[in-house]
Amino acid sequence: MKVAAGIAAVLLAGPLAHAWSDHSFCTWQALNGMPELSGRMTQAESLGDYVRARADALPALLEREESWARAELPDYAPRPDALKFQAPARSAPDAAWQLAFLRAIRVNEQARLSLFLQRRPGQAIAPVRRLDWQAVSTLHSGSGNAQFEKLDAGEAVSAYEVIATASSEPDYGLDLGLWADSGTAQGMATRFGPLPFGNPRFEYSGQAPFHMGFFHESRVIYAAAGYLKRSYVEARIHLYLSLARDALAHGRAYWGWRFTGWAMHYVQDLTQPYHARVLPGIGTGRLIWIDLQDLLGRHGPKNDAINRVTNRHTVIEGYQLGRMAMAYSTGHDDEPLFLALRDTSGDRANWQFGPHTGRDLVSAEAAAAADALDAQLVLSFPSHYTDDPATDLSKAKDIDFAAIAHDHAPDQEKALLAQMRPLMQAMGRHSRAVVRAALSS
Ligand SMILES: [Zn+2]
Repeated sequence: MKVAAGIAAVLLAGPLAHAWSDHSFCTWQALNGMPELSGRMTQAESLGDYVRARADALPALLEREESWARAELPDYAPRPDALKFQAPARSAPDAAWQLAFLRAIRVNEQARLSLFLQRRPGQAIAPVRRLDWQAVSTLHSGSGNAQFEKLDAGEAVSAYEVIATASSEPDYGLDLGLWADSGTAQGMATRFGPLPFGNPRFEYSGQAPFHMGFFHESRVIYAAAGYLKRSYVEARIHLYLSLARDALAHGRAYWGWRFTGWAMHYVQDLTQPYHARVLPGIGTGRLIWIDLQDLLGRHGPKNDAINRVTNRHTVIEGYQLGRMAMAYSTGHDDEPLFLALRDTSGDRANWQFGPHTGRDLVSAEAAAAADALDAQLVLSFPSHYTDDPATDLSKAKDIDFAAIAHDHAPDQEKALLAQMRPLMQAMGRHSRAVVRAALSS
């Protein structure tokens, strides 16, 4: 149990909002030029209109999802019968249809779900079309780089842009307020129980069990901290792919692509080593030693380990976001991270994303890369950021980690990019597989 306490403390301390920062930045590259999306256009449609159009089909579809999750996910908390989808009266307003749907799929009923597109850094948006953060997210503050443009219902829009925008959206509050200790009525109704990991005091952390999956830890860790298995990331991926396929097959392509982007978000989260391993760089033996020290009243080693892991997670996200934001702003299409995301050489055209690909393949790849990436971060950045447990990067909004790595040790930055390349290639490859899975019947 003490190991459990140590692990829990790490999860409390981590910046749990994002895996890779700003998924749209990655998705624009990953899907760039994908033949399956070429020329595909659709019309924006409110969620209420979509639900109304599919109201007769949704009960059976959601029942199939529920049966699949109960059979395939051993730690899944069954959806209570009281939350079964029930169509409101035909004449009910959009908001009632939206609410009925969100309750049934156990997604934050406060979610904004506006019609919008994310635009690239530096891209001009007419002032009347500009949306602020609060129009798309329930969170109080978000990524300073993201900018949004309003869409009108019926407006023509490309599938590619809908997916790329939607691939960031699950980080905008969709999975918040859902736990028994979230302090919301919906959190009591979902029967997910109390937050298994993450700290309810942090605005973001309620989404952690939906966006992380520790599927490849040692048995000792699971024995001590069984709650780490309570991840809903596979359930989200499966649900959104099923909704996407149904919508695409029945003339509701806008929501088909938006659901595809939502499914993609969780897959992309699993490609991040710090979302696939609890403590990269710290072996099980070391973790138990740290915990023993803690048990003996020497809390220093545990606190130091927590701070280091948290800081490295922050550094790698900051580095990725900084490089990508700069590349978009300056039109550098040859940014190495972009080239890796666009690299289709490892794609298998006939291979799609299966029900357990997230667990068996995506998160296994990320977990396998975690220790080496963790070690490389120490070499690529000044020790103040990666090795000094006294450093607190939790509010590190304006630190330019790309410039810091460049100035610190150019050779080690090359080595870091070499480590990130296969991770970005995997994110690109799996993102494209999600699109192919959505298009399959
Ligand atoms: Zn996420």
